[in-house]
Amino acid sequence: MIFKSLSSASEFAKSSGMLNSLAQIQRLKKEKNAVILAHFYEDGDIQDVADHVGDSYFLAKKGQEVESQLILLAGVVFMAESVKILNPQKKVLVPDLGAGCSLVSGAPYEKYLAWRLAHPEAICATYINSSAEVKAISDVIVTSSNAAKIVAAIPKDRPILFGPDQHLGRWLSQKLQRPMTMWPGACEVHVLFDAKRLAALIELHPDAVVIAHPECDQLVLQFAHVVGSTSRLLEEVEKNPAKKFIVATETGIFHQMKKNRPDAELIQAPVEDGTCGCNNCPYMKMNTLDKVVKALGSEKPEVTIPEKLRKLAQVSLDRMMAITNDQKVEWPERFISPTL
Ligand code: SF4
Repeated sequence: MIFKSLSSASEFAKSSGMLNSLAQIQRLKKEKNAVILAHFYEDGDIQDVADHVGDSYFLAKKGQEVESQLILLAGVVFMAESVKILNPQKKVLVPDLGAGCSLVSGAPYEKYLAWRLAHPEAICATYINSSAEVKAISDVIVTSSNAAKIVAAIPKDRPILFGPDQHLGRWLSQKLQRPMTMWPGACEVHVLFDAKRLAALIELHPDAVVIAHPECDQLVLQFAHVVGSTSRLLEEVEKNPAKKFIVATETGIFHQMKKNRPDAELIQAPVEDGTCGCNNCPYMKMNTLDKVVKALGSEKPEVTIPEKLRKLAQVSLDRMMAITNDQKVEWPERFISPTL
C-alpha cells in the first residue's frame, strides 16, 4: 500500500515535471522564434515537442528550409554539425554536446586521411555519421535514404572508398553491384541484433514482415523482407497492410510507427542479450526534455565550426544535396589533402 502510494506520488511528480518542461519549451520556442528538429531515435516526448521529426537527410534538408535563425537539433552532434555546415548564418543548439556516435568516434580524422591518401584516385563516399573534419576530406556525403542514388551517380570507372559504416557499405555494394573499399566501422547499436534469435522469432511469427536498417550485420539483413532507412521502414509499416512487423532498428522509431499503425503488432528484433535494453542508442537517449529547456533558455550549448573547416565540409554535403535533387555534379580527378 505504502509502495503503491509512493509510486503514484513519484509518477505524479514526474508527469507534472514533464508538463512543466513542455510548457516552458513552448514558451521559449515562441519567445525566441526557435525551431526544434528531432530524430526518430529520440524519446517520444522529445519527438512530440519537435516541429519536425525525421531521419538525418530530412533534418539536414529541413535545417536549410526553415526560416528561423535559431534551431535546436535533438539528435546526435554530427546531425547538428551538418545543419550548421549548410547554414552558417543560423544558430544551432543541441541539448547535450556529449551526444556522440560510435561511427564518428570509430573514424578519427588522421586515420581517415591516411586511408584517403593511400587511394588518391578513388572517390570517397562518406556516411553522414561522421565528424566535420572527415566530411571535409570526403567527396560526397550519403545518408541511408539517399546512399543508393548517390553511389549510382559515381562514374563507373572510378574506384570507391566507403566509410565509416561497413554494413551499410556492404549492403550498397551488393545492391548496386559496385565494388567498394570499406572503412571497418559499425554502429554499436545495430550490430547487436542477433541473427540466430531473429530466426527463432520469425518461426514463432511466420506472418510478420521483417524490416531492418542497413546498419545491421548481413546475417540479420538476410532475414529482412525490407531493408531501408528509418523513413523507408516507417513508410513500410504505414503502407503495408500486414498486421505484424519485426523491426530491426533503434527503439525510438516505434513511437511514430505506433502512431501511424495503432492496429499493427510491432515486435523488436532480438539482441544477443535479451536483458540489456541495448537496442536503445545511448547517445540519442542523452537528450531529455530538461536539457531541451535549458538549451533553449540559455542558447547553449551551441554547435560552432571554424569557418575554413565548415567551407571544406560543405563541398561534400552540397554534392549530396545536388545529386539527391537530380542535379549533375563534378567529381575531383584525384584527392588532394586540404589543410584544415
Ligand atoms: S544508433 Fe548507431 S549510428 Fe545512430 S547515433 Fe546511435 S551509435 Fe550512431
